[in-house]
Amino acid sequence: MNGPLTCSATNCVHYANNLCSANKIHISGLNASITPDTHCSTFQEKNLENSLNSLSNINLNGELKQFFSSSGIEMYPEIECDAKSCRYNQSGSCFAQSVNIIKNDALNSNYTYCNTFCK
Ligand code: SF4
Ligand code: SF4
Repeated sequence: MNGPLTCSATNCVHYANNLCSANKIHISGLNASITPDTHCSTFQEKNLENSLNSLSNINLNGELKQFFSSSGIEMYPEIECDAKSCRYNQSGSCFAQSVNIIKNDALNSNYTYCNTFCK
């Protein structure tokens, strides 16, 4: 199970103050050999329709913990990941102690990367 996640994809419907409010995310990159080969396929552009669609993937428990936390990251998603060449991938789950997803101006998942990817 992965540790806390930070994200800078400000245009994503799940983005919340450098954190991710999704309950579960999926990272693609089956044949990834470098960071830009990995993408957060859970990314959805912020709009009303996607906000409604995202309701089924909200980390309510994490949001509550984060609300009452004075420090630290309490809200972060479970990660399913296809990037089998990453050293943190164990049978499709991520076991990194912390994960960072980028980037600021992404308008679709193809422009998001797992910055923690490491062979
Ligand atoms: S891009 Fe991925 S990690 Fe970042 S907020 Fe969106 S769903 Fe969460
Ligand atoms: S750190 Fe590695 S295993 Fe974890 S989400 Fe990123 S690419 Fe996948």
